[in-house]
Amino acid sequence: MQTTQNTLRNPSLVNVIRLFLLVLVVLSVYYYDVIQLGVNCVWNYLLTLWFFNSVYFETWLTMGCYLLLNLYPYSVDCLRTLDKYKIEKSVQYRTQTVIGMIQEAIAYAVPFMFLDTFMVKKYCGVEASIWDRKRESTIQYTRALPVDAPTFAQLMFQLMASLILYDVFFFFIHYTLHRSPWLYKTVHKWHHSHDVLECHVTNQLSHVERITLVLSANTALKVFNSHPLTRTVFVPVFQLLLIENHIGYDFPWSLSHVVPFRLMGGARKHYAHHMQGGKHYQPLFSYLDHFLERIQSTNVKFSSPNRKFHRLSKAHSS
Ligand SMILES: [Zn+2]
Ligand SMILES: [Zn+2]
Repeated sequence: MQTTQNTLRNPSLVNVIRLFLLVLVVLSVYYYDVIQLGVNCVWNYLLTLWFFNSVYFETWLTMGCYLLLNLYPYSVDCLRTLDKYKIEKSVQYRTQTVIGMIQEAIAYAVPFMFLDTFMVKKYCGVEASIWDRKRESTIQYTRALPVDAPTFAQLMFQLMASLILYDVFFFFIHYTLHRSPWLYKTVHKWHHSHDVLECHVTNQLSHVERITLVLSANTALKVFNSHPLTRTVFVPVFQLLLIENHIGYDFPWSLSHVVPFRLMGGARKHYAHHMQGGKHYQPLFSYLDHFLERIQSTNVKFSSPNRKFHRLSKAHSS
């Protein structure tokens, strides 16, 4: 595999972005009351929208965000000046037909809309008696939402903590999928079945894998009693991070460079995982991967499943 140079291309740009983010944090502390007023206004407005109250809202939001966020890799592909950031020269955006996109959307939505129809959604800040009343009906139409908006601090904490916890959950799931040949073939192989990594591989998931991914994210959000507004913000942020992993470009302004101490995994590491297998199992961060690599280098019991991965990949392509 011929990849482009694995170096931080523009450290001064990274420092400018870090400074900008620091200023943003300071400003958000200084103008906290103004931001909170904005959060309250947004929440009160969302409560008036019929589709926000629908039980299907989060499924529709996920579908809508995925379709819209595809404009990001498409735009990147159109800008030839960004070609220098390609991890491998062969990286190319694969244009998808409208029918293909609709098929993908239906394949995603059907199982989740089925669950939405019959499950009572429980959000923090809603009285248990309201859930009991909802349970009296088999089919659910609306979700019971809390009257009050979250505080801005709650929203930020729930968002970041949920991303961190999801990442831990999925690290163990992903590692298990690679360690077990049966699970790999049955559940995960489809995600690795491609010639060149590009953004549509993000959604190239078996049904079991997709449901596991969504349930992991959902459990992480639930652990922190995430407000429905946090969950609404979580969806595009989460998807953008996953698309970024599969885009095939290593931008100097990406979080893997901006966040210090090599905490984030990023596109280059996920690219290596897709092409070589055997490491970089964390979808967002990298500290557990570093820890695993240390164990693997000192303990033969945890030897890398690299060879197994190649054998399975070969079997698939033949
Ligand atoms: Zn994998
Ligand atoms: Zn992937």
